[in-house]
Amino acid sequence: MKGKTKITIDYARCGDGVGVDPRACAACLRACDPAVFLLHETIGAIEDNPYDPQKWRVTPLWIDLCTRCMKCVDVCPEKAVSVAW
Ligand code: SF4
Ligand code: SF4
Repeated sequence: MKGKTKITIDYARCGDGVGVDPRACAACLRACDPAVFLLHETIGAIEDNPYDPQKWRVTPLWIDLCTRCMKCVDVCPEKAVSVAW
């Protein structure tokens, strides 16, 4: 894959306890064959109940594995994912 792929998630639309809960959606995680995304608790978030965290986000972590298939962009109901190069 030539050039650097840039994958961004709009956290105003998904995750961080602001947009949709990515645990309830997870469409991008399911769609991505090479499993580029990581679902994790939002680092540094102040949780009302730290034993029941509610603030999660999806991070494109293994970007070098991306095949630029655009499935994650197509399936996201919030139009929160963008892939560019
Ligand atoms: S473009 Fe395809 S390979 Fe790349 S992150 Fe999205 S679903 Fe995964
Ligand atoms: S598909 Fe979109 S809304 Fe669903 S978890 Fe992924 S980024 Fe969030």
